[in-house]
Amino acid sequence: MQMVEVMNDQDDKKITDQLMSACERVKLNEPMAKHTTIGVGGPARFFAIPADADEMIRLIRAAIRLRLDYIGVGRGSNLLVRNGGFNGLVVNVGANLGKLEVRKRTAYAEAGVSFTRLGRVLMKEGRPGLEFAIGIPGSVGGAVRMNAGAYGSEIFRVLKSIKVIDGKGRIVVMKPEHLPFRYRSSGLPRTSIVLSAIIHCPPGETDDRQYEKTLDRLESQPLSNRSFGSTFKNPPGDFAGRLIEKAGLKGVLRGGMMMSDKHANFLVNVGDNTRANEAEDLIEHVIETVHSRFGVRLEPEVIIIGDR
Ligand SMILES: Cc1cc2nc3c(=O)[nH]c(=O)nc-3n(C[C@H](O)[C@H](O)[C@H](O)COP(=O)(O)OP(=O)(O)OC[C@H]3O[C@@H](n4cnc5c(N)ncnc54)[C@H](O)[C@@H]3O)c2cc1C
Repeated sequence: MQMVEVMNDQDDKKITDQLMSACERVKLNEPMAKHTTIGVGGPARFFAIPADADEMIRLIRAAIRLRLDYIGVGRGSNLLVRNGGFNGLVVNVGANLGKLEVRKRTAYAEAGVSFTRLGRVLMKEGRPGLEFAIGIPGSVGGAVRMNAGAYGSEIFRVLKSIKVIDGKGRIVVMKPEHLPFRYRSSGLPRTSIVLSAIIHCPPGETDDRQYEKTLDRLESQPLSNRSFGSTFKNPPGDFAGRLIEKAGLKGVLRGGMMMSDKHANFLVNVGDNTRANEAEDLIEHVIETVHSRFGVRLEPEVIIIGDR
């Protein structure tokens, strides 16, 4: 999609008016540091918080008509926005769209439902499949987009279907077999916004071992620090954390960003005035160092958007 090339206040006002005719809550130049767990990031030129799915649909259609670049965000727990910010519309899907219903053999969750909450509710109701979700601080929409998972499980294994607004503004129901999903990726294009998901979860024995592993995982994470979870995907047959640790990168700093000394694959924000470029510099440094030591090129799991 081509982005609108307009920079002046009048154009911003015109665009804001049109977006506000679709969605009541639209802000200008909203700092994304406030909406990401890593706590850094430049401004979103337009930032909208739709109250419900209808507002969301009207908003996305307005953005498409305006030829405005747009992106959906949930809880910002896997997102790094560069210092220059996002020159388009950031749609906050995670603030609302919180309906969750456990049905006979499935669960219906809107995109804004907390993924941890979904995991907990299913566990309590004796519905196996998403025990690993407990402790993942994202939204259902973000979990679908990222194909979130842990310990060999992932959401696509139990996904029955999703409802999305596609890049043409159409409402489409998709099944996993329609998507080229893989490890930590749904294959959904960026312009497809997830509205809801149906999880296949008939009653059964929940996996207590999986749940215990989930609790152990939480113990091993530097949860008192701001982070976006695992920075890199695990390369086939190995662990990114193992390679980072072996390369002597635990505790390495770039400004206020550090490769955690508790969990080598976590990049943590330990500074007071940390900037997004410090995270990106550290990511590049880790990629180059691990590559030169082991010949493996790590791929970031975190989604990086915006202008430098
Ligand atoms: C402490 C910590 C632990 C973590 N542990 C794990 C883990 O064990 N396993 C794991 O897989 N991840 C983990 N993560 C990463 C993260 O929580 C997951 O990837 C989560 O699913 C992201 O959801 P979100 O709502 O925060 O997405 P965001 O960070 O808001 O967005 C991530 C991506 O999804 C897109 N997106 C978000 N919502 C939508 C939507 N409704 N429609 C379309 N696209 C959307 C965004 O555009 C972006 O590309 C962890 C993160 C932290 C901070």
